[in-house]
Amino acid sequence: MHLLNFSSPNKCLLFFFEQNKSPQGLVGLKNLGNTCFMNSILQCLSNTSELRDYCLRNIHHSDLNNNCKTNAALMEEFAKLTQNLWTSENNDAISPSDFRSQIQRYAPKFVGCNQQDAQEFLRFLLDGLHNEVNRVTIRPKVSVEDFDHLSDDEKGRWMWNMYLQREDSKVVDLFVGQLKSSLTCTVCGFRSTVFDPFWDLSIPIAQKNSGEVSLKDCLRLFTKEDVLDGEERPTCNRCKARRKCTKRFSIQKFPQILVLHLKRFSDSNIRGSKLSTYINFPLKDLDLREFSSESGERPVYNLYAVSNHSGNTLGGHYTAYCKNPTLGEWYSYNDSRVSPMSSSQVRSSNAYVLFYELAPSSHSKYQMCRL
Ligand SMILES: [Zn+2]
Repeated sequence: MHLLNFSSPNKCLLFFFEQNKSPQGLVGLKNLGNTCFMNSILQCLSNTSELRDYCLRNIHHSDLNNNCKTNAALMEEFAKLTQNLWTSENNDAISPSDFRSQIQRYAPKFVGCNQQDAQEFLRFLLDGLHNEVNRVTIRPKVSVEDFDHLSDDEKGRWMWNMYLQREDSKVVDLFVGQLKSSLTCTVCGFRSTVFDPFWDLSIPIAQKNSGEVSLKDCLRLFTKEDVLDGEERPTCNRCKARRKCTKRFSIQKFPQILVLHLKRFSDSNIRGSKLSTYINFPLKDLDLREFSSESGERPVYNLYAVSNHSGNTLGGHYTAYCKNPTLGEWYSYNDSRVSPMSSSQVRSSNAYVLFYELAPSSHSKYQMCRL
């Protein structure tokens, strides 16, 4: 085992970051051949203030997981790139080639020059970063216990704590929430609940004959009661037989950063057909109370970044619109070009992945009582 000493560069970088008053984070990323999907997501993550600070302050060094097979090279290159975007002395575009080599090592599907799906890339990237800075070095065995005597809330909390015993990192602190699915048997009425962690939510696009489609319309479609019948019939624990059931999602634990993926592509494939429906989403005060499992909660979110996809499934292009966390203004990131934009231009039918942050006044019962 080797220990690295990173103490002195930390302080220099932080000092530089706090003293330099010129606009930062306004640096473009060179396109390395159809890498706009990657650049778009990297700019959204670079403007995620807590993740940015985690990199700028080199906190990731103390979290590096010694068990990690890839020697934490992905996190290292991601942090270096973020540092370059925020401390570069000029605004010349940066090449993300060292970072790309590491993501390709981690996820070989990103080798080559094919256009890729930005949301899929985000999933791989967050997963890779999480694995390298997971605070858990020895994952305990999962014990299968009977939770039926617990209330839904207790069960959800229990499941969440079990999850944290295996997966616990800055990335989890920021991005992971918990989804509750309730299954009700249409024959005997027995209701069972399942809790699953989520890194983002893939939201179907609501269709309307008239009027505008709002983000809430799409979220309502996502959480609408669904009937599982025919081949999909689950086994009811009380009937001990496969029964027609209804299923419904609600959000049990709201994450700090809520990533909403608008399902514009059929079968989640970038080469499938694309829905270019304009969806009206709020930049401020997205109140998700009605989607919460618990009636007492009031989660409110503010938008800070959008990954956009323009064009069709045969030829498309990704850009990002991000609100600079230091300046509080919106900027458009189109590979190497960065330009200021008005907040009124943020909504478009190209919006594909939305990044929302929990408003400071909102708090989650989980964050308050974390073990
Ligand atoms: Zn039943």
